[in-house]
Amino acid sequence: MTATDKSIEIKNLSLNFGDLKVLEDLNLEITDGEFLVLLGASGCGKSTLLNCIAGLLDISDGQIFIKGKNVTWKEPKDRGIGMVFQSYALYPQMSVEGNLSFGLKNAGVPRAEIAERVARAAAVLQIEPLLKRKPSQLSGGQRQRVAIGRALVREVDVFLFDEPLSNLDAKLRAELRVEIKRLHQRLNNTMIYVTHDQIEALTLADRIAIMRGGKVQQLDTPHVIYNHPVNKYVAGFIGSPG
Ligand code: ADP
Ligand code: MG
Repeated sequence: MTATDKSIEIKNLSLNFGDLKVLEDLNLEITDGEFLVLLGASGCGKSTLLNCIAGLLDISDGQIFIKGKNVTWKEPKDRGIGMVFQSYALYPQMSVEGNLSFGLKNAGVPRAEIAERVARAAAVLQIEPLLKRKPSQLSGGQRQRVAIGRALVREVDVFLFDEPLSNLDAKLRAELRVEIKRLHQRLNNTMIYVTHDQIEALTLADRIAIMRGGKVQQLDTPHVIYNHPVNKYVAGFIGSPG
């Protein structure tokens, strides 16, 4: 890996909540354009790690680089990332269009460019017919598409997803999984995708980082992790014959 094709570098990252060590001396390098899945049981520190990358938490130790720049102490808005959360907190009083453009307006993006970006995101996510609707007039899957759209309109190089499908039923999850994969193939940007769902991880990831107790246990392609798990925990978690 050369310096230029690293999208995100995490060096010796530690994060404590009081006495609780949630992340401990964690190291991770993510390649430009890679779809990396963070997979692990509930409470292992996945969301915390994502929030550190996004700049939503102050870390206890270590450094974070995005596109070669040290962003460890940068504001979230200056990191060049878009984030999609598990609960798609759309603004209920605004239309879909309003929800998509709100952040851009606040950031001072010119009106004409906002319109273009909203149109592009709506086309990619196939939500053009929904632009005038309110969130209450949308299905769960449509709402989650809008939530993804709010990250897309930022047109950044790095997207972070925190269990974006876990509130949806199995059928919708399967559908949106395919769409997210397609989205990545089309945009070719870096995506870090948190889940505790093994199927999601195996189908979406270029590489999977298996986390346990605030550390990365194994980082490799789905094929290698499934066929050559480094220990019994990974084998059990991924459901491989081991
Ligand atoms: P995951 O996303 O893998 O389920 P989290 O990153 O949310 O795990 O949480 C990791 C650990 O940190 C858990 O033990 C959780 O209880 C704890 N934790 C998360 N957020 C806070 C917080 N704001 N204050 C104290 N403890 C927290
Ligand atoms: Mg979480």
